[in-house]
Amino acid sequence: RATSIIVIGMAGSGKSTFTSCLQNYHADQQKGESAKEGDASTTTEPAPYFVNLDPAVTQLNYSPNVDIRDTIDYQRLMEEYNLGPNGGILTALNLFTTKFDQVLGILERRSNDVDHIILDTPGQIEIFTWSASGSIITDALATAMPTVVAYIIDTPRTLAPATFMSNMLYACSIMYKTKLPFIIVFNKTDVQDHQFAMEWMDDFEKFQHALKETRNPTEPIDPKHGGASVRRGDGDEGTYMNSLMNSMALILDEFYKNLRSVGVSSTTQAGMADFFDAVKEARKEYVDDYRPELDRIV
Ligand code: GDP
Repeated sequence: RATSIIVIGMAGSGKSTFTSCLQNYHADQQKGESAKEGDASTTTEPAPYFVNLDPAVTQLNYSPNVDIRDTIDYQRLMEEYNLGPNGGILTALNLFTTKFDQVLGILERRSNDVDHIILDTPGQIEIFTWSASGSIITDALATAMPTVVAYIIDTPRTLAPATFMSNMLYACSIMYKTKLPFIIVFNKTDVQDHQFAMEWMDDFEKFQHALKETRNPTEPIDPKHGGASVRRGDGDEGTYMNSLMNSMALILDEFYKNLRSVGVSSTTQAGMADFFDAVKEARKEYVDDYRPELDRIV
């Protein structure tokens, strides 16, 4: 019954805040329902089940049902094995993965009672996406139940065409690696509307236009004008950087066509209904495409 959602994103993109927003959103929805219908006739939706996979996080704004920190003491691990922060996180995740069959057993049992199982991943994206333990956890989950990836993007920090492009290339590489249905979540829309990003993905020429109008593609555009009226340069189309980005944007066009993207604010809960609609669609893609392929291989 349940769909598991793996929350991935660069450090600071808002993964933990987004996860806590999902918990609050559900609680607020339920309050709304009971206020409308009166307690007796209320149809309660089960709360999502939360898993925290970040051993180094000091404070979480949500209460996870399964927490890597309950079984692994990251600080002690660092001291005992003389590890740096990233080595400590990776080792903690590796140790946790050796016991993941037990966690998976719990999740499989819970999956009959809940609609969503949400996994918050470690702060540094590569520790999960490019590690053996990250792959083992992802593959084990995706074999056990419908699984989708929510890729969180820090919208205000992706206003520069080059940053936008590298974020999208990263998303593309993760999708290629996991082969799972993918949802791009433009977070922090309370600070910066994500319209500019939707336009860049919908229309290659608009992205090209933004590129031409900024002297340096690593500088943020002025979103009010789509980069157009703040003509900082003289249209340096000929520079190596711009021509490389033009070519990459054309390649990414194919990626964008198969993508679901939503804008949300994890602080105001705006866009959460759209996110859950996207999860439904992504689940359908899992059932229609991913699962038959998996059954064919196994
Ligand atoms: P993580 O490293 O990806 O888990 O990121 P965090 O959840 O710790 O968030 C990083 C920072 O972004 C924190 O200061 C959050 O308060 C802030 N943040 C996260 N989501 C939002 C949002 O939707 N709007 C705003 N304004 N700030 C956000």
